[in-house]
Amino acid sequence: MSEVHVAGSRDVAVAAPIGMVSLAPNSWTEPFWVAAGRHQLVVQRCRNCGTVRHPPGPFCPRCRTQESEWLDLNGRATLYSFTVIRHALAPHLREYLPMVIAVVEPEGAPSARLVANLVEVAVGDVVIGMPLEVVWEDAGDGVAVYRFRPADVAART
Ligand code: ZN
Repeated sequence: MSEVHVAGSRDVAVAAPIGMVSLAPNSWTEPFWVAAGRHQLVVQRCRNCGTVRHPPGPFCPRCRTQESEWLDLNGRATLYSFTVIRHALAPHLREYLPMVIAVVEPEGAPSARLVANLVEVAVGDVVIGMPLEVVWEDAGDGVAVYRFRPADVAART
């Protein structure tokens, strides 16, 4: 009989291992990842109507204009939604559980949503609406991946 570990509410959320990250940017997403490489979160903004969007794409969903620019964000966000992964899809992923996959609403770009791992927080302390801040993990060669952690220091593990 195999040993099964069920994550408890006090278990700390673990991020996906950086070695599993494989970026394949296209002409629309490359500016986002170049900015990430220098630890700057950005979102695409329509030059015609000002609508921000993420993920980046060729057309504004509001006015269909193709003209866009990049807006620097301050790295703060609010937790919009999340799910907790408690079961590994493969045995070698067991050590990366529990994993919290979050949808966050970045400050200054409320119509955009970013998907990221939450870190430095116990699973049971994750609450929709909690304030977050970005943290970066460097993968080498100018590549960096963003995570979010509680902005309130007392809420961190
Ligand atoms: Zn627009």
